[in-house]
Amino acid sequence: MARTGGNNNCLFGPVHSRRLGLSLGIDLLPFKTCTLDCVFCECGQTTRLTTERRVGVPTAQVQRELAAYFAHNPPPEVLTFSGGGEPTLAANLGEVIQEIKQTYPQNKLCLLTNSTLLSDPQVRREILPVDIIIPSFNAVSPEIFNQINRPAQGIAPADVMAGLRELKKVYAGKLLLEIFIVPGLNDTPQELARLRDFARLLGPDGIQLNSLDRKGTENWVKPLAQASLQKIKEFFGEFNTSCYLKSPAPE
Ligand code: SF4
Repeated sequence: MARTGGNNNCLFGPVHSRRLGLSLGIDLLPFKTCTLDCVFCECGQTTRLTTERRVGVPTAQVQRELAAYFAHNPPPEVLTFSGGGEPTLAANLGEVIQEIKQTYPQNKLCLLTNSTLLSDPQVRREILPVDIIIPSFNAVSPEIFNQINRPAQGIAPADVMAGLRELKKVYAGKLLLEIFIVPGLNDTPQELARLRDFARLLGPDGIQLNSLDRKGTENWVKPLAQASLQKIKEFFGEFNTSCYLKSPAPE
């Protein structure tokens, strides 16, 4: 679920998410505040590339918007931290999670994250109450990681993998690893084997394979052909693996 930006509200949707059902999005940061500047990002180029955590939307505003939403709408199936950037960059994420859990205990919480700040023990602690975490990780090799994700200074795939594994050791919710395939970069047999080796170490509850759905930041990024995605799905066959492609790409 991606937000296209443009207003000051932190809630967006709800949308019928392919993965989550009826999902109300919560975006705690100014549009395109991210630790990465992915070539496939459907929200466009990152305008604030950073690893510094800050408060974008005050917790009280999130509470006000949620109260207004629940007063006038049927409850969504899930509340999802997502949007046009990296949710864990919000310094009040943990506080917002705690408040929502107390006020709306019947609602599931989901976090879409690019995994880059999971090396921070504080971030890992804050997100433990979330019911579903969908961390993305697309390349083990530093050169491919850098080509796809164009990270802020100091972010390296080895640290991201270590953070993910630390989280998995203590996290009791559902962890679904998302791998975004960029044809020509991370779909080589070698890189896919590295990703599978890492997934074996991590032991996620499932793997979600993704490919370009709408226009990416860089025009040269193309969707993966349906048959190729199917082959990669088979390669990850030992996991509970699903694929997401809206319209089949031609071979
Ligand atoms: S991590 Fe997500 S929001 Fe950030 S640039 Fe990549 S795809 Fe876009």
